[in-house]
Amino acid sequence: MTFHVLTLFPEMIKQMVSHSILGRAVSSGFFSVNAVNIRDFSGNKHGQVDDAPYGGGAGMVMMAPPVYDAWASVAERKPRTIYLSPQGRTLTQSLAQELAHAPELILLCGHYEGIDERVIEEIVTDEISIGDYVLTGGEPAALVLIDAIARLLPGVLGKEASHQNESFGAELGGGLEYPHYTRPPEFRGRCVPEVLLSGHHGKIAEWRQRESAERTRLRRPDLVEQKSKD
Ligand code: SAM
Repeated sequence: MTFHVLTLFPEMIKQMVSHSILGRAVSSGFFSVNAVNIRDFSGNKHGQVDDAPYGGGAGMVMMAPPVYDAWASVAERKPRTIYLSPQGRTLTQSLAQELAHAPELILLCGHYEGIDERVIEEIVTDEISIGDYVLTGGEPAALVLIDAIARLLPGVLGKEASHQNESFGAELGGGLEYPHYTRPPEFRGRCVPEVLLSGHHGKIAEWRQRESAERTRLRRPDLVEQKSKD
């Protein structure tokens, strides 16, 4: 899978995908990230990509032509084009799962007040928000989206770090995952639940299901309610 990220700050994107699990997955060829600098398409010698808003007001607006030309440089096969925006549909695990099937995605990062609406209408197929708050730019949101999708791709997580049985997954009925413990068996007077040391796989699985259900009920009653409606 290839992510093309249209951005004014390509280094932010390159940095993040060169470390840890994502970095190893990119080096192994499980997915690739092509950071496209919108400024390279400014069309003027000053590299200008933004201008004052028509109608007045504070802040600058990213101009349509450089954004369009940056998009056109990678849009030959017309992949889904996602504008990261606080006004989009909120990212969920099921949306990440859906997007993980795409062979190619274009992610558009805004800055300043945002992007000229006409180019959004022209090229964007989806608007996605990472939550009800406003960031200074779309890059952190694009990186959140890349991370959420990439870890679902075959080969990206090693055998020891599987995405089965995780929060929001089907195995736990869309609920939250159970708690985890590792050595030592006692820490500041707190002991690992006895059942996890028992070696009894059936009882461990039962305990995990119960803990997952209880956590979800306490922390995310909205998920329980949603499930009862589905
Ligand atoms: N003026 C816009 C508004 O009020 O809706 C906010 C613009 S914001 C300062 C600049 C850029 O950050 C946006 O164009 C978008 O790409 C990105 N951004 C901000 N918050 C975001 C969020 N919650 N999810 C995804 N992208 C976001």
